[in-house]
Amino acid sequence: MHYNNNKQIKLIFLGPPGAGKGTQTEIISEKYSIPAISTGAILRSAIKNQTELGKTAAKYVEAGELVPDDIIIGIMKERLAEDDCKNGYILDGFPRTTAQAIALDESGAEISLVINLAVDDDVIIRRMSGRRVCCTCGATYHIEYNPTEDNKTCPRCGGPLACRKDDEPSVVESRLKVYHEQTEPLIKYYEEKGILRTVIGQEKLEDTTALTLNVIENYLKG
Ligand code: ADP
Ligand code: ZN
Repeated sequence: MHYNNNKQIKLIFLGPPGAGKGTQTEIISEKYSIPAISTGAILRSAIKNQTELGKTAAKYVEAGELVPDDIIIGIMKERLAEDDCKNGYILDGFPRTTAQAIALDESGAEISLVINLAVDDDVIIRRMSGRRVCCTCGATYHIEYNPTEDNKTCPRCGGPLACRKDDEPSVVESRLKVYHEQTEPLIKYYEEKGILRTVIGQEKLEDTTALTLNVIENYLKG
């Protein structure tokens, strides 16, 4: 794709857990050939491989709490310094606290656009129960909104699909509480910088994608 300016896409996806940020992030990443960086995916992979990070993170993630800022900030500084981030990136699940947002700014990231994917709590709760994640490659699906042929096997890699532990109803409740208390204030933070756009999450995945792509195209043209 060609644009008459060479604006970079350094995009943050904000929104409650289960809003569909991960799915939109994957689509945008492919369309614009920029890396998608998901702190949730990084943490899940570390937990699965039982690395030091994984062992520390597991107790927070499984309780629906946030992993401490210093750990997350350290991981992301390293990740964003990698070569593939030179021409832009999409962040899914980071920053999630004001301290993380400030650290990102101070690292010189120069975020160009923040998309707030707005979805109501009751919709979130319904959605989480249908979410499935591939135990092998980490791809996420939904039995209703983004189904696979049998909702048991990953079409990407053939791995088995399972429920995430932290998608259990009691954990979902604390994740939503954490979102409202710690992450929602970032909407105002980025609004004040003039780079926030809101996309209302739609019933259909493709409709949300269309709205999201529209926001990105307007940014690239503007
Ligand atoms: P969702 O967007 O569905 O909430 P994620 O995959 O983004 O799920 O995150 C899963 C869990 O990983 C969070 O509930 C939290 O425990 C941890 N986590 C992910 N990103 C961060 C972050 N930026 N800061 C602290 N904890 C995080
Ligand atoms: Zn897979």
